[in-house]
Amino acid sequence: MAHVVWFKRDLRIADHQALSEAACHGPIVPLYILEPELWQQPDLSHRHYCFLNDSLAELNAQLIEHYGIPLVVRCGNASDILQALHDEHSIEALWSHQETWNDWTYRRDRSVQRWARQQNIPWHQPRQFAVVRGRHNRDGWSRQWQALMNQVCLDAPQALQSVVTTSESMPSASELKLHPTHLEATQPGGRCHALALLESFLHTRGEYYSSEMSSPVTAFDSCSRLSAHIAFGTLSLREIVAACQQRSLAVKGQPRGKKGKWPAALRSFNSRLHWHCHFIQKIEDAPRIEFENFHTAYDSLREKTPDSDRFEAWKNGRTGYPMIDACMRALSATGWINFRMRAMLMSFASYHLWLDWKAPALHLARLFTDYEPGIHYSQCQMQSGTTGINTIRAYNPIKQSMDHDPEGQFIRKWIPELADYSAQSIHQPWVLPHKLNGYPMPIVDEKLARKQAMQRIYALRRGDGFFNEAQAIVKQHGSRKTVRSHSKAAKSASAQTEINFND
Ligand SMILES: Cc1cc2nc3c(=O)[nH]c(=O)nc-3n(C[C@H](O)[C@H](O)[C@H](O)COP(=O)(O)OP(=O)(O)OC[C@H]3O[C@@H](n4cnc5c(N)ncnc54)[C@H](O)[C@@H]3O)c2cc1C
Repeated sequence: MAHVVWFKRDLRIADHQALSEAACHGPIVPLYILEPELWQQPDLSHRHYCFLNDSLAELNAQLIEHYGIPLVVRCGNASDILQALHDEHSIEALWSHQETWNDWTYRRDRSVQRWARQQNIPWHQPRQFAVVRGRHNRDGWSRQWQALMNQVCLDAPQALQSVVTTSESMPSASELKLHPTHLEATQPGGRCHALALLESFLHTRGEYYSSEMSSPVTAFDSCSRLSAHIAFGTLSLREIVAACQQRSLAVKGQPRGKKGKWPAALRSFNSRLHWHCHFIQKIEDAPRIEFENFHTAYDSLREKTPDSDRFEAWKNGRTGYPMIDACMRALSATGWINFRMRAMLMSFASYHLWLDWKAPALHLARLFTDYEPGIHYSQCQMQSGTTGINTIRAYNPIKQSMDHDPEGQFIRKWIPELADYSAQSIHQPWVLPHKLNGYPMPIVDEKLARKQAMQRIYALRRGDGFFNEAQAIVKQHGSRKTVRSHSKAAKSASAQTEINFND
């Protein structure tokens, strides 16, 4: 008889509730199922697979070091693999963390659930994130986040009894037809890197987080860079929350002059750890947002198939707007860009280029090593204006460039064609067209494109029935802290003051 611990997006042994509970019940099989069909989905990419491989290698090493047991890898369809293990070892129970990911994993979990019921095998799915499954009300959501995150982190189990079984090797990326698409210098996976990032962020890199997170010049160092580790679970969110709380207490105890910028930085960071689950809750409650607009009024606003010239220019960092192109090129090469620049990239695609959010969102999903569907699709829709409940924010790429890269150093790094431009001219290189060096002229007129987009959006928001549907969206998905401002935004949907032209 065996207890199967199915590692999913929780590639660690510390603070792993499924593993700790299973360990109390008898011999276990620590299992990772490599699902080739998942890796054929359009939102997955080579860089995700590299991060996974690094993280699995470390998980395997930890299991061997602590318990003398290797990770069991099997490749194929999850239900088939579980059935084979059941035939070999008679599974007593299946243990894994509750997973809220993309539509494919949602359908896979439903089919595993059916299989487990048919076999009369209990499937225990404790939560690692504060996402509530099943019918629930958003009221009190924040309190339950706090309650889960305040629980003491679990140590890795002291001992594990294992079941001897066969393991397969991981297929290579090329066997899965995953090919690197850009010159990649992406983030390494694995818990050692995660712990080092947490330590350096909380003790050195993070002090100026609040003021430096928005600029791509500083954000690569000043942000925690933990997102991919949270997405693959090499660290638990609770471990990060606990470390942040501990550091906040230590800072609090310091004399006033010695606290520096830490209190504000830690507060900001902690609220983003709330947002993580707040956004994933949205896709848990409405999986359709991976494919459909939050608000149906936007369904026929933009062409479903993107204009290929515009889309290609955006993807290849050749729109003629240096900040857009530098960010896209940096992201393609490294797998990461900061929040504000992600928002600007998405807003430029949706407003200036007037592309439906789905194709750009898929492209970004493949580029972000930290791709997390619940956060990703909610954010992509927020930055495209299709939630119907958020303030419309159309970022002006020239202003972003001047504000967040005043000397042009980030732009020069990623757009070598513009290396000879001065800090004054680099934000609008078209004013010196003879120096462009192969870099394109702007693909659209920034002001005009933005103005036309706003007019179309606001005409739609004044339409019949818009407000009622927006109210329902607020009720289902809105944060209760900001529910009043959401309602106000929905109500005054036609007010021009809502347009944030200054961004
Ligand atoms: C269009 C768009 C798409 C995005 N897609 C993703 C995605 O696929 N995966 C992802 O993890 N984040 C996504 N984000 C949110 C955010 O940009 C990243 O979480 C952040 O940049 C990751 O870097 P970090 O770990 O250094 O973040 P930090 O600033 O150090 O924040 C710490 C953690 O808080 C959480 N967090 C931070 N900002 C947000 C936010 N705005 N919403 C929800 N959680 C947040 C993340 O888990 C992050 O790792 C997206 C944002 C936009 C605008």
